[in-house]
Amino acid sequence: MFDRSANPVGPHCGTERSFDQPAFGAAFRNTCTQEWMIWSLAIWGRYEIRGGALECIVVGGGWAGLAVSGELTARGIQHRLFERHRIAETWRTQRWDSFRINTPRHQTVMPGERDTSGDPDGAMPVAEFIALMQDYAGRRGLPVECGREVRRIEPHGRGYRIELDRETVLSRCVVVASGDQNVAVRPALAANVPDAVAQYDATSYRNPTSMPEGAVLVVGSGQSGGQIAEDLIRAGREVYLSTSRVARQTHSYRGRHSMAWMVDTGIMDIPKANLLAAGPIPTRALVGADHTISLQSLSAQGVQLLGRLTAIDAGRAHFDSDVSVNVAFGDTTAAETKARIDAWLTANGIMAPAARTDPAETVVPTLPDPAILELDLTQSVGSVVWCTGVRGDYTFLRVPAVLDNRGAPIESGGLTRVAGLCIAGVPYSVSRRSGTILAAAPDAERMVNHVEMVLRSN
Ligand SMILES: Cc1cc2nc3c(=O)[nH]c(=O)nc-3n(C[C@H](O)[C@H](O)[C@H](O)COP(=O)(O)OP(=O)(O)OC[C@H]3O[C@@H](n4cnc5c(N)ncnc54)[C@H](O)[C@@H]3O)c2cc1C
Repeated sequence: MFDRSANPVGPHCGTERSFDQPAFGAAFRNTCTQEWMIWSLAIWGRYEIRGGALECIVVGGGWAGLAVSGELTARGIQHRLFERHRIAETWRTQRWDSFRINTPRHQTVMPGERDTSGDPDGAMPVAEFIALMQDYAGRRGLPVECGREVRRIEPHGRGYRIELDRETVLSRCVVVASGDQNVAVRPALAANVPDAVAQYDATSYRNPTSMPEGAVLVVGSGQSGGQIAEDLIRAGREVYLSTSRVARQTHSYRGRHSMAWMVDTGIMDIPKANLLAAGPIPTRALVGADHTISLQSLSAQGVQLLGRLTAIDAGRAHFDSDVSVNVAFGDTTAAETKARIDAWLTANGIMAPAARTDPAETVVPTLPDPAILELDLTQSVGSVVWCTGVRGDYTFLRVPAVLDNRGAPIESGGLTRVAGLCIAGVPYSVSRRSGTILAAAPDAERMVNHVEMVLRSN
């Protein structure tokens, strides 16, 4: 049995506020307190009474885990959700200060919920997104237990054995929602950066003032790299941006947020298999949360654009001469998406406002002349920010045939080859939606369907 004082349990666990603090409204406090009490009794009662295997456990209290827990709750499936820190921990600790959610407000909702902000295409500050998840867990009475790290999951009989810090539980099914985008990935050449140069990742960068003096080299020109480069240049820092072939997404087009069109046109539903047919799945497009960011708009603000980083040796970083190709690639891909939206509007006879010129796309790029092919890091750069990708950490998952030799999940639509074991929140698992909040509802439904099927087969 676990020690409740040591392990805050319940939907608001891990936060500074408790139900008794005046900052919570009375109505909210009453509703949550009642639901919380009912749930506490239900969970504890069931667990104690049965004393055996749970029906399901969920690992992780991000949107993916909470959505699954919401669906399990709605279907009356007995479960517990273990979160090693706090609800929405990734969003609390891995985003920079000025970060805003890239998906527009009307898409940044939990399953069954609607945006009521009156600003459907607006960009939500990250603090609001954290509150939204916490509020969802509270209102739905989800059995969230914070400060509970899952250390090992292994097969046990017809289910699983789950090892936590001070407890071991058995469960017929497991949904792993520990996050596939919360461990920063640096290229091997990062090891050659001289010691005097500070190194950050997109997940550990906070703001321009917390960086050491000197220029900042941002490596990677996807969403994070582009947004961080702009954050730095706007604060007057000297910035180099090492670019690569990354698509661009115009923020708004023909009167709406592009993401709204991308959902309506089916672009976000292009199946993974079709995406793979064109080669490896590309990095998500460069986009700003509340305006378009392009390589040319960054250059116009003073960011010095470099080609792809190819090597670091003897304190010197080397770059390809492909900047203009990378700028052109952004232009081509942005135009392709617009053409697709136009074609869909025409095919469906929908009248939308005419396209407006976006200055971030028409501004002429200001490229270093001659191109910068080499930087002496010890002389010219105080810090490097690696915006070179993220992955998950599934080392606690000791179940044969669910991880490949790089430790990445082998799954399709979140279902693994092993009955009763699902992995939620994996990017491109089904389509472009996967790994974004847009997948929360369909993922949860699919996985809970599977859980239900396994439970019925008992
Ligand atoms: C810079 C950046 C910006 C992004 N912006 C957007 C955006 O605007 N919109 C969007 O939809 N997506 C965005 N994404 C994608 C985003 O990462 C995912 O939408 C989201 O974080 C995935 O949610 P999740 O619940 O799967 O994982 P997470 O949010 O990472 O949640 C996983 C949870 O599991 C917990 N956990 C991990 N291991 C254990 C364990 N062993 N035991 C117990 N608990 C554990 C963690 O503490 C964490 O709370 C962005 C990604 C990055 C990197």
